Amino acid sequence: MIVTIERGADASAVRRALIERGLWVEPHGAGDAIRFVVAPCSARVEAAALLAIDGVCEVDSPASPHPRVDAQPAVVDVAGVRVGVGAPPVFIAGPCSLESAEQVRAIAERVAPLGARILRGGAFKPRTSPYSFQGHGERALRWMRDAADATGMRVVTEAMSPEQVELVAGYADMLQIGSRNMQSFPLLERAGDARLPILLKRGMSATVEEWLSAAEYCLLAGAPAVVFCERGIRGFDPSTRNVLDLGAVALLSGVMGLPVVVDPSHGAGRRDLIAALSRAAIAAGAAGLMLETHDSPGHALSDGPQALLPDQLRDVLTELGGGR
Ligand code: PEP
Ligand code: MN
Repeated sequence: MIVTIERGADASAVRRALIERGLWVEPHGAGDAIRFVVAPCSARVEAAALLAIDGVCEVDSPASPHPRVDAQPAVVDVAGVRVGVGAPPVFIAGPCSLESAEQVRAIAERVAPLGARILRGGAFKPRTSPYSFQGHGERALRWMRDAADATGMRVVTEAMSPEQVELVAGYADMLQIGSRNMQSFPLLERAGDARLPILLKRGMSATVEEWLSAAEYCLLAGAPAVVFCERGIRGFDPSTRNVLDLGAVALLSGVMGLPVVVDPSHGAGRRDLIAALSRAAIAAGAAGLMLETHDSPGHALSDGPQALLPDQLRDVLTELGGGR
């Protein structure tokens, strides 16, 4: 929003009044020509409220590039599980890859009683190398649905291509769009058309605006809602797999009122950091956590080093008040 002040009005008083409303304010110009740009992250502020400030003569609200995201509800219903601002934190747990019917069932039976409401796991895996395990495909979707139904959990799992969407949607309660596909626009459109909530993982080099626009594609195509998932962005330091951007979490959740969950597993890439990052994520306003969990991480077909053991998951959830 662009706030213009009356000729001769006290610009610093107007600036203070804007800042007092919690807005992020950037001055442009000087003297009588000064204007304040209230950053797009504050778009939910009513223009009328700013016009009422003494000395303000005009408030211009340029059209948002993502109006459907701005209008999306703060809380998303995932087959009866509420995820979003103000709802209790939701815990999503499960292996990186769905490895066998027995593995999926055993992990679901461990994590559900701990308070995890949504089962995660990949049947179609986006792997950097074509020689790495690629996932078991449709049969794994069946293992997952059965395990979730048997343990009272919901299912979130990834579709990697538009052609996979219909199949995956037949088994899932929420469709996952992976980091590597955040800007695969035909996939976003097909996923939106499936009319399921979407878990949209942030591209590893995506800006917040690009992430919001990707969500707009899904909503425009018919998705009832998008849950954003911060999973770390590319940094320069190999000490952690990615850099978990909790500033973006506070921005989306606290300023924009959007549902955002945090995946510290891919953010850190190592299990010894997961507990601390989980606490930090909830403190930053995350509506939930996605935590890779494996009953034998040393034998995992993907991402073993970042998987929690079920006992470690219990400790994390208990600490955050969501465990049982
Ligand atoms: C995943 O969650 O299974 C995954 C592949 O994560 P990302 O897309 O964030 O790398
Ligand atoms: Mn993984």
